[in-house]
Amino acid sequence: MPDRSYFDWNATAPLRPEAAAALQAGLAVVGNPSSVHAEGRAARRFVENAREQVAALVGARPGDVCFTASGTEANMLALTPKLETADEIRPRDRLLISAVEHSSVRAGGRFPPGSVTELAVDAAGRVDLDALKLALAGTARPLVSLMLANNETGVLQPVAAAAAVVHDAGGLLHVDAVQAAGRIPIDINALGADLMTLSAHKIGGMKGVGALVWRHEGIHIADPLVRGGGQERGLRAGTENVLGIATFGAAATAALAGMAAEAARMRTLRDALEAGLRAVAPRAVVFGAAAERLPNTTLFAAPGLTAETAVIAFDLEGIAVSSGAACSSGKVQPSHVLAAMGVSPEIVHGAVRVSLGWDSTETDVQRFLTAWRTLVTALSKGEGIAA
Ligand code: PLP
Repeated sequence: MPDRSYFDWNATAPLRPEAAAALQAGLAVVGNPSSVHAEGRAARRFVENAREQVAALVGARPGDVCFTASGTEANMLALTPKLETADEIRPRDRLLISAVEHSSVRAGGRFPPGSVTELAVDAAGRVDLDALKLALAGTARPLVSLMLANNETGVLQPVAAAAAVVHDAGGLLHVDAVQAAGRIPIDINALGADLMTLSAHKIGGMKGVGALVWRHEGIHIADPLVRGGGQERGLRAGTENVLGIATFGAAATAALAGMAAEAARMRTLRDALEAGLRAVAPRAVVFGAAAERLPNTTLFAAPGLTAETAVIAFDLEGIAVSSGAACSSGKVQPSHVLAAMGVSPEIVHGAVRVSLGWDSTETDVQRFLTAWRTLVTALSKGEGIAA
């Protein structure tokens, strides 16, 4: 048995072997992709090859991929009032987001705080399309941002249906697909997302690389975040992170190739894990269980369980899980996602997230369930968790 069982893939994934190979190959590249000599052209080939690979992951055109330094940065780049189309160059007057978005979207990008509206979600965390319609009716040039899959629960948003509503109202739709990418098939055209955010490290590329993807050429960001050398079609200045981008491309290709088999395997493991959780603690709740979800994610709580205790107890047993939102880890904060889903505060404090990946095994799940049994037994002596 390996020393550790890593069950925090929604926080970040290990480097895929294919990405490690791309990194190794990239180490030999000496040139700057903007240089015209052979060394520069070799570096450029790495970047452009990766652009094709990342575009293929979501059915986009390579020319519509802009590399950034993170998913967070791609969200920040996209969420600006200065999104212009051929028909409309006046600033977007309102940003509409769901109440369960990642903190990098909740920060509102470059919209003034008073111009951001949070939309209600249902008990599974899905945006209420009627609330969306209502909010759109009160805006002239809206931008809507919705995540494809939630980082805490894995629940999928009805993005294609929302896109139709947004477009009917003359709005634009940005989709944060950071957690969904590589785990479920994504076609940016079928979804109707005008802009889409991706992040390399969630799919097995290096940390610190992201991308903003366009569905069509008709949208112009008039205020790029990083200005200077004109890289990435003037949208993101700075010499490209050639190695990181190469790993992003390799990870995208590997994820796409193995997606169906990996998803089926993860779903089987995840379902076994959830069945085992409930067998030990019948009152355990799996959030969003009835909704369409990513195949790798379980967010659960049980009466008497506190997330801090659980994370530490699992860690001591060699298992990495997370509590609250992963991106605020280091500090356990109650989940805004569960609060928006109407979960009571005492349950919210006990929520633990288990997220699996392509190298998770049945042995890992068994180790988790053994640790869970021990934890529940210990807690039940004091608090009746399994009662
Ligand atoms: N969006 C979602 C849904 C995420 O889960 C994360 C990271 O956890 C991000 C955006 C930010 O991505 P990055 O870590 O590349 O900044």
